[in-house]
Amino acid sequence: MALTGLQIQKLLPATNCKECGSNTCLAFAMKLAGKKAELSQCPYASDEAKRVLGAASEPPVRCIELGPERRLKLGGEVVLYRHEKSFVHQTALGLNLNDTDAAESIDATIKIAAEYLLERVGEKLQLDVVAITQKGTDAGAFAGLAVKAWDRTKRPMVLRSRDAAALTAAAVAVKGSRSLLCAPSPAAARELYRVAKENDHALALTAPDLDQLVALAAEIKALGFNDMFLQFPTRSLAEQFQAASIARRAALKDNFKALGYPTLRFVETGNLLDNTIEATNEIIKYGGICVLPEFDAAQMASLMTLRLNIYTDPQKPIQVEPKAYAIGEPKPDSPIFVTTNFSLTYFIVSGELENCGISAWLVVPECEGMSVLTAWAAGKFSGASIAKFIKESGFEKQVTRRELVIPGYVAQISGELEENLPGWKVMVGPQEAGDLESFVKSRLL
Ligand code: SF4
Repeated sequence: MALTGLQIQKLLPATNCKECGSNTCLAFAMKLAGKKAELSQCPYASDEAKRVLGAASEPPVRCIELGPERRLKLGGEVVLYRHEKSFVHQTALGLNLNDTDAAESIDATIKIAAEYLLERVGEKLQLDVVAITQKGTDAGAFAGLAVKAWDRTKRPMVLRSRDAAALTAAAVAVKGSRSLLCAPSPAAARELYRVAKENDHALALTAPDLDQLVALAAEIKALGFNDMFLQFPTRSLAEQFQAASIARRAALKDNFKALGYPTLRFVETGNLLDNTIEATNEIIKYGGICVLPEFDAAQMASLMTLRLNIYTDPQKPIQVEPKAYAIGEPKPDSPIFVTTNFSLTYFIVSGELENCGISAWLVVPECEGMSVLTAWAAGKFSGASIAKFIKESGFEKQVTRRELVIPGYVAQISGELEENLPGWKVMVGPQEAGDLESFVKSRLL
């Protein structure tokens, strides 16, 4: 349960010494309650305060780190809905390998897992995990495949087998990869949590129903192991949606610790479209790790794009650096366009200019990551601010051309821009970036 400022104040020394940067202990307590300060800022906090506040400040969904240097972070979420603040750690996407797959198929999947890269709005989107499923009976071969996948991808692995001994062998073989062991049953989990602990891996739990899963998570935590994932025992998309919603609500609203862990889901409906729908559900409904049975380029691009959208902080638009970008190989007298530094706007406009086949300059002043009309309405994309950027960035001296194309949606700033850029002529371009090609052909060539 989150503590109020007054409850926290009672745990502080009440000397109002100001060393924490706040004028009073109460003011500091209010900051702590709002998660705008850390207890370590008070040098006089008692052990009791550290114990109580430490437990209270644990995120309602535990953050678990996997992979080399623990770079892949999962869980740690604090809101039910993205617009309340933002989601923090995006759903990890991965591909599954079976130890019984043909060698060429295994090699091809490992290569995709290691090399897949989708660039979108300046972000590099990649696969996060590789899952290894034991379908055969050779524990040595299963562990060997895990080692091979680890060596070639350096991605954390999700190791799945019905045989606890095989999982143990694989866990030891890839010690250092900080991977995830999937316990096939509650009994196996009681055995495997020690293996996970000794080899620095996490453990995914499952049970016949949600109540038993909750009991198992509480039991393993009481045994001193807390790096757990939950695999909901669901049989349909509707059940999975419901279980994920119940668990997240219980963790966030009721601080129900046994459901406050990231989740794991193997998507394996046997049908590409249904797999895509299930994976979509994981991305939009709190999924921790989502493993797909095979690679499909169109499906992966769609899922990666959806994930990027869901896990972008709605309060911080993705931005590109304000500067004059070269499209092709522009010369000092090449056409000059201007747009805002909202990533989506920049990449759409620059893409359309590239499609025109011309070399040009694309001037992107600081607009706090807003789109054209929003930036104009907020006073961040005015004739004066664009002119200031062109002068102060040195771009005016870099080029000989004195003609600037502005987006059609802000035609009204052309006069102000010409006033602030003496000697320059302002042309009003099209409203939509998709019309740039015809504009270039009819007005600039
Ligand atoms: S440093 Fe500690 S004791 Fe001093 S004012 Fe801040 S909270 Fe109070």
